[in-house]
Amino acid sequence: MKSLLRKSKYCLAVLLSPLLLIPFLQGRYVAPVQSGFVIDAKRVLVIDPGHGGEDGGAISISGAIESEINLDISKRLDLIMGLCGVPVVMTRETSELVYPEDAKTVKARKNSDMQRRAELVNSIKNPVLISIHQNNYPGKQPFGAQVFYGRKGDSRELAVYIQNTLIRALNSKNKRTAEEVSDNIHLMKNTDCTSVLIECAFLSNPTEDALLKTSEYRLRISWAIASAYLGFYGGKNES
Ligand SMILES: [Zn+2]
Repeated sequence: MKSLLRKSKYCLAVLLSPLLLIPFLQGRYVAPVQSGFVIDAKRVLVIDPGHGGEDGGAISISGAIESEINLDISKRLDLIMGLCGVPVVMTRETSELVYPEDAKTVKARKNSDMQRRAELVNSIKNPVLISIHQNNYPGKQPFGAQVFYGRKGDSRELAVYIQNTLIRALNSKNKRTAEEVSDNIHLMKNTDCTSVLIECAFLSNPTEDALLKTSEYRLRISWAIASAYLGFYGGKNES
């Protein structure tokens, strides 16, 4: 019941926010209502809310936990994509990690869950992986979303498209560009598909930390990612 109510809350927020699409409908990033738009059921979007459980990720300057923000944005993205008819799989749907009983240390539990996520992605036919994270830096100045791409499939092209959409939707002063992901990201290293990792905002920046506390901004991020995904793949009719 509790989860049903929670889901209803997200549904309501999503349904009441079509106005957030207006910036996209005015520009080149049109997708959800584009004429001739084709849902490709053969492609499955895998949303990975970064971290979870004892691995909370980064902590914001006001004490917000990255793993919780990642999950919230991911759930909103899941609902939007569901409304658009896009098949979605989430690598986690709760705040917890999944691991066997014999995983005794935090490192063992984290590694086990990472392995599980990679196996899940690799078990899906034609997946596209989007991993959701928040950035962190010792200083307070850095700001702006940044997208990192894996080495397979359409990763780079998709990352560039999402990066441009996020700049347009969230902050036009953001000068960051899409970059190749570092080698130590387990999930992207161990999956064999198009993959991007999105650092949505800086938890170390006071303005972005405050924005991330609002459901409106989290929803705006989710809409922007959804619009970019649909814009990028909506025009690709290959079988
Ligand atoms: Zn992270």
